[in-house]
Amino acid sequence: MSFVQTHAPLLADHFGPKNSSAVLNELYAGVDLGSLSWAEQLWVNWYIYIGNPVIATGLMSFLLHEIVYFGRCIPWIIIDKMPMFRKYKLQPTKVPSNAQMWKCTKAVLLSHFTIELPQIWGFHPMAEYFGLATHTVPFPSWTVIVPQIALFFVLEDTWHYFAHRALHYGPLYKHIHKMHHEYSAPFGLAAEYAHPLEVLILGMGTIGGPLLYCLIRPDLHIITVYIWIVLRLFQAVDAHSGYDFPWSLRHWLPFWAGADHHDFHHMAFTNCYSTSFRWWDKLCGTENKYEAYKARVRAAKPSEREATEKKELEAVEREGLVAERLAERGYGKAMMGVPKGKLE
Ligand SMILES: [Zn+2]
Ligand SMILES: [Zn+2]
Repeated sequence: MSFVQTHAPLLADHFGPKNSSAVLNELYAGVDLGSLSWAEQLWVNWYIYIGNPVIATGLMSFLLHEIVYFGRCIPWIIIDKMPMFRKYKLQPTKVPSNAQMWKCTKAVLLSHFTIELPQIWGFHPMAEYFGLATHTVPFPSWTVIVPQIALFFVLEDTWHYFAHRALHYGPLYKHIHKMHHEYSAPFGLAAEYAHPLEVLILGMGTIGGPLLYCLIRPDLHIITVYIWIVLRLFQAVDAHSGYDFPWSLRHWLPFWAGADHHDFHHMAFTNCYSTSFRWWDKLCGTENKYEAYKARVRAAKPSEREATEKKELEAVEREGLVAERLAERGYGKAMMGVPKGKLE
């Protein structure tokens, strides 16, 4: 009797489908299941319990997205209800209403269930096609996982910067990206409040990096992609949270964008296009307004800082509204930054 035949009842028979032994034999023949870690055993059990790797990968991908996205939004919803945190809000007068939060929740759920859910049949075949390991165990080591995720962050940020700038071009803005800019003061749930085409275009940055990697090297496991997606979802929701705390990541990592950066994008419209890092905006000169605003607030006397910040925020938002109108009319330079002399 083989090792697999001996262990099959221990691993899955007590709660798995009737053919779990057959699935175990098919997927894990020759694997020393006794040497697996707790997480790897859980992984094996999931694939055996579902009994079909296509459904197992698809369903897990979908559930991961739902649980992490909405789960990460919950603390921000609570924080928005607590006035003691208001002093950390980037646009303190603009706390989202229940109606706004509900509207975003419904729109995001609708897009997930109508666009993403039918795709669960495609995740596993796509992974197989690109050579991405799915049901296999053991998982890669952290020394393999960490550099891969760092690379995906850099690739996604680069794709997002240029694709996002293109989405600010008149016709693309008017028909696609405008929906995401409905809120000049974003909140967690607004992170994925966007046109389906925008979800597709910017989502390519998240999934494109791992697929591109698979074409070059054969050592990528879907668990690494899942960890990457979890971190990317945290980044997206947190960047839209509207809060900048003294302990926020950007204060520790000066090149990290964070909510401070993206909140300014929603307000000013023409600056701060990237997601995770600040280097593309710095390099391409699309942080100029943001830096000038920060410098003016910093230059104010401590006693006048709050009033200066309020005045500056109002001015930035006014200019942002004009820049948005210009972009909608197809005024090309609006995507490059507010044209000098027109608005300043
Ligand atoms: Zn934008
Ligand atoms: Zn946004």
